[in-house]
Amino acid sequence: MSNHLDPKEIFKLQFENRKNIANTDSKARKAKLKALLKAIQTDFKDKIRKALFEDFKKSPQEVDLSELYPVIGEIKHALKDLDKWMAKTPVDTPIGLLGSSSYIKSEAKGVCLIISPWNFPINLSFGPLVSAIAAGNTAIIKPSELTPNTSSVISEIITSLFEKNEIAVIEGGIETSTELLTLPFHHIFFTGAPSIGKIVMQAAAKNLCSVTLELGGKSPTIVDKSANLGAAAKRLVWGKFLNAGQICIAPDYVYVENEVKEAFLDKLKKEIETMFSNDPQKSSDYSNIVNQKHTLRIAGYLEDAKQKGANIIHGGKVDVQGNYISPTLVDNLDWNNELMQNEIFGPVLPIFGFDDINEVVEVINRGEKPLAMYIYSKKQKNIDQLISNTSAGTTCINNNDVQFFNTYLPFGGVNNSGIGKSHGHYGFQAFSNQRAVMIQHISSAIELMMPPYSNFKDKLI
Ligand code: NAD
Repeated sequence: MSNHLDPKEIFKLQFENRKNIANTDSKARKAKLKALLKAIQTDFKDKIRKALFEDFKKSPQEVDLSELYPVIGEIKHALKDLDKWMAKTPVDTPIGLLGSSSYIKSEAKGVCLIISPWNFPINLSFGPLVSAIAAGNTAIIKPSELTPNTSSVISEIITSLFEKNEIAVIEGGIETSTELLTLPFHHIFFTGAPSIGKIVMQAAAKNLCSVTLELGGKSPTIVDKSANLGAAAKRLVWGKFLNAGQICIAPDYVYVENEVKEAFLDKLKKEIETMFSNDPQKSSDYSNIVNQKHTLRIAGYLEDAKQKGANIIHGGKVDVQGNYISPTLVDNLDWNNELMQNEIFGPVLPIFGFDDINEVVEVINRGEKPLAMYIYSKKQKNIDQLISNTSAGTTCINNNDVQFFNTYLPFGGVNNSGIGKSHGHYGFQAFSNQRAVMIQHISSAIELMMPPYSNFKDKLI
């Protein structure tokens, strides 16, 4: 059951209250973060696990690792560094401005909107919320309508901790989101598809509202012959098939050096069986696809690939009624296949071979800049070549997905994969205005250059 809060009414309440929240000190903000920590770590942990199982059969262990742990990490980082982030930062004074001093004050943006997707509903609602609270904002969260059980728990947690004029959850689908987007928020933090990111940015432009857009795309993985193939296969299978591949930073496709391609494919197949058995549908560790529409979407990509001559070299089992697609490896694909024309966002991994690393650079640069790029190699020359000649929001070498957990790194895409950064201090900054403050202590050299101008002043200027 979704709640029925009126967006305009909540916005008005938060707008009126925003300065009270902005003027809270670090002690008050930390108390709120600690309350949120207790809620997700203790009071609501079982409810969260249950809701995510009901929404798409996410295993409790996966909930803890990929939904709770990142939010706990965000909160702990903020608790440790918030005083530092909130402190005025003095900056240097150029010689021409002698007699003054300057500093930067991070002030709250005001009333913020957080729109989150369904794939990690807790992580991607509360992660940005931690930054919004740390920076002293009020916020409205609009979680995804596709995971209704989890959205309802999100709403319950927030209602138990905050007054509506500070933090509120407004449940609903596209219509609700569209209504919210007409309101003059001070910042919108959106996580979702690039196509919807464009709608959000257009709506934000009407109010000249700043945006953070955490989007997606096709994230490549490159495995060269120097890589530790065993470790690469294990990490890749985990990072691709966790959450049944419904992860924005999951490896979307792989380029493996031809010399080791067969050996690598064997290792991938073995790892899939080790992690999820030879019948992943029965494995309690393997998630479902979120709904039938998405199951049909991914099944359609597979059908298209098969018709165009691709080989399904592992998996390929689809049960539309059960929202299930097995971990699948596909070979012999063409870039014109639907699988390669779209972000897969599911448990299908296309594999390509390469002989020359420059071919891979060219392929990556033909597409949009990815959210993540992964390189398995021990050859620094190849790593440098790939990093220097491509662009990506994040990159991880000899692993995948785990860069998300390091809150000291900025997280986010570039252009089509995202605008702005989140996590740790970067998240705090996204929800803050870096206010520039200059104080004139004694008269300044500028005064010597004010009209009426003379030859002397002309020379001085
Ligand atoms: P989505 O863009 O369809 O939905 C995200 C949110 O936007 C939901 O709350 C939804 O209700 C709302 N929404 C949908 N259509 C809308 C519209 N027309 N107008 C206004 N609001 C609208 O995304 P999704 O299917 O929930 O998630 C999958 C996408 O999200 C993938 O592209 C994935 O890569 C991306 N993603 C990115 C990150 C990241 O951190 N960069 C994380 C997770 C998912």
